[in-house]
Amino acid sequence: MPQQRLVIIGGVAAGMSAASRARKLDPQLEIVVLEKGRHVSYGTCGLPYYLSGQVADASELVVYTAEFFREKRSIDVRLEHEVTEIEPGRKRVHALRSRAQPVVVEYDKLVIATGGAPALDIPGVQLSNVFTCNDLAGTIRLRAFIEEQRPRRAVIVGSGYIGLEVADALVHRGMEVVILERSESVLEGIEPEIGERVEKALHGHGVRLIKNAAARTISGNAQGGATAVQYGAGGSEPAELVLLATGIVPRSELAATAGVRIGRTGAIAVDERMLTSVNSIYAAGDCAEVRHLVTGQPTYLPLGTTANKQGRVAGENAAGGHGRFDGVVGTLVTQVFDLAVAKTGLNVEQARAHGFQPDAVTITSTSRAKYIAGKPILAKLVWDRATGRLLGCQMAGEEGIAKRIDVAAMALHARMRVPEMLHLDLSYAPPFAPVWDPLLIAANEAHKKISRS
Ligand SMILES: Cc1cc2nc3c(=O)[nH]c(=O)nc-3n(C[C@H](O)[C@H](O)[C@H](O)COP(=O)(O)OP(=O)(O)OC[C@H]3O[C@@H](n4cnc5c(N)ncnc54)[C@H](O)[C@@H]3O)c2cc1C
Repeated sequence: MPQQRLVIIGGVAAGMSAASRARKLDPQLEIVVLEKGRHVSYGTCGLPYYLSGQVADASELVVYTAEFFREKRSIDVRLEHEVTEIEPGRKRVHALRSRAQPVVVEYDKLVIATGGAPALDIPGVQLSNVFTCNDLAGTIRLRAFIEEQRPRRAVIVGSGYIGLEVADALVHRGMEVVILERSESVLEGIEPEIGERVEKALHGHGVRLIKNAAARTISGNAQGGATAVQYGAGGSEPAELVLLATGIVPRSELAATAGVRIGRTGAIAVDERMLTSVNSIYAAGDCAEVRHLVTGQPTYLPLGTTANKQGRVAGENAAGGHGRFDGVVGTLVTQVFDLAVAKTGLNVEQARAHGFQPDAVTITSTSRAKYIAGKPILAKLVWDRATGRLLGCQMAGEEGIAKRIDVAAMALHARMRVPEMLHLDLSYAPPFAPVWDPLLIAANEAHKKISRS
């Protein structure tokens, strides 16, 4: 049999996970990665920490270089190769090398791992001091701007976790920061009482949050630099730096044009093997949908942890294996100054929208025994009144948050009901938890409410 060729479009989390897994399973397979940028395999999630200076050098974010993949794993990584067309009928892709030279590459199997792009729909985004923090090259430019131009005042548009992490980084650099948020709450999908804690943390660190403030335009000066962001009905905030953190949209156009089915979310529809609607074409990461295990529906939750898993499964199957990825429960944790905020599963509103009958409790407890300086933890548990099934959990506090949200995520994966959570054997010693863990206290309160109804 002639040598088979796997082509992968995109070389970050999903793409390089696919390439590495395929190489492990099949040492003979020819693997070509086409990446339009100059970097592969870097920790996008570390970008805010590079911006703040906690990560001193951009090279520290690079897990493996293109040379490493070529020399040690026999993976033919081609940088500055932008794929412009997929021809499924002839099993080949067209690319532009260094933005000019046309190249055609044939494939037997194809993995699309083109990621997501920042949503940039505000007039003025082309101005010289308007940035995003979505990829390594762009964040290197942003940090150089901060270090060379020393802006004193930044306006961040959007208060999702990227906007908040960047706010933290810019305050760390001594800047005055204003966040414009178009809705009533920070961190989309966060419950109001948890959101309040986040707002308090922002306020405590001098960040001004303006809610119900949809950015309309960015105005500039004659030199092509942004000077202010206009929002809502007549508001305006002066800025020496504008950071757009208005969300991620899947880069699915290439796939759509090739006839690959796009789901209702706008991302590429895949099955549990990461196979698209077109034979021999897989998709993974921020360009693809993922099944939500609580609702059972395809959803769009672009996260690095998912991109790695989906990429691994796509690579395994493209190399002839039998991997599957069943889905996610929507777990996320982020750090806003001293506060950790986390969520998993559904909030009350989402649960209702998906046909559940949600009920909820909110409790406060501490991260460890009070007598050794436990820190407050706020936790909210959501369950289905009809079945008692856990539907979601959110938490905020200064320590012990990630450990506990992961337990709740496990419970969601196991489709546990609240009564089954009451006596979970969670770890206890005074430096790590109170004797009744906050999660057990929340489950107990939920159980009492269930028993009363
Ligand atoms: C600031 C920030 C912080 C984050 N923090 C976290 C976190 O703490 N936890 C978490 O789970 N997730 C986090 N994420 C999300 C996570 O980084 C992404 O989910 C992950 O990087 C997605 O990987 P991917 O490979 O699917 O896509 P990307 O990382 O977007 O990579 C796609 C690649 O494809 C290339 N490409 C696109 N189109 C083409 C084309 N036509 N031809 C060739 N190449 C192409 C792009 O240049 C890009 O390099 C964070 C993201 C950001 C921006």
